Amino acid sequence: MSALILDGKAIAAAVRQELKATVTQFRAKGITPGLAVCLVGEDPASDVYVRNKVRACEEVGIRSVELRLPATTTQVELEALIDRWNADDTIDGILVQLPLPKGLDAGPIVARIATHKDVDGFGMENLGQLTAGKPALVACTPAGVMEILRRHSLNTGWSLRGKHAVVVGRSITVGRPMALLLLQANATVTICHSQTADLKSFVSSADLLVAAAGQRHLVQGDWVKPGAVVIDVGIHRGEDGKLSGDVDFAPAAALASAITPVPGGVGPMTIAMLLANTVQACQARRVGA
Ligand code: NDP
Repeated sequence: MSALILDGKAIAAAVRQELKATVTQFRAKGITPGLAVCLVGEDPASDVYVRNKVRACEEVGIRSVELRLPATTTQVELEALIDRWNADDTIDGILVQLPLPKGLDAGPIVARIATHKDVDGFGMENLGQLTAGKPALVACTPAGVMEILRRHSLNTGWSLRGKHAVVVGRSITVGRPMALLLLQANATVTICHSQTADLKSFVSSADLLVAAAGQRHLVQGDWVKPGAVVIDVGIHRGEDGKLSGDVDFAPAAALASAITPVPGGVGPMTIAMLLANTVQACQARRVGA
């Protein structure tokens, strides 16, 4: 294996340290950033995500408000909660853990979150800002990928400018915002999806590959262009409990110049960027430039 391992766990820890310093400055001015998180129902995976988010808030000094509601919660009750949090000056970011239980429609809930508190970046206003080339609050996973790439550039001199970036996946939460961020960073971007003919030919021409298809080992190692930077967003838990990604790691690492592992690559960055968005939202609304 020759590729440099892009250590998302270490980068996320560094981001949290930087945020802690910023939050300390805010608190010295009497302003404590606040993140409100709502979990509806009892999905075990969501439960772990919410606990991790709350713990990460504590670590950097962000105040978290955690509300757990029964699966019987109605759309009207959930919308009323969002309205309350929108009006609460001490709350800078609002997050409703998805997926919601059957019977609840996530679209109107996400749309109801005030744009300047939409720290997941899933609302239409924030997606529109990104599309217009004026990103405000950006979805956390693609923002985390950009932070990994930014530090890789700083450390090695590698540049995204003019490179061919291939994103596999076009979801609103990962693939699409990812492609727009790469475009913003002056890459030439191709988006692939389940209907793409000859995925291998696109992947093989990628200087930067971001795999976010949700298909274990979809990208075979020998598809990777020699010297490419490979970012694997996919997370899959095998029957043995082990995690793996969308990219067949070992053979890909033999060809790539740099690669993110699974686990320990993109995963830890998502929560770090949620905290970063909360601090950014607080700064924009309550602290000023
Ligand atoms: P979605 O299922 O919403 O989207 C998957 C995308 O991949 C779709 O656009 C789909 O195409 C495309 N796709 C599926 N199969 C193929 C294929 N065979 N060839 C090419 N494209 C394909 O998933 P998400 O975007 O939410 O997540 C993607 C992966 O990233 C998952 O493994 C998820 O667990 C992981 N993830 C990791 C996070 C982290 O923190 N590391 C955070 C969020 C997600 P089409 O649009 O045509 O259906």
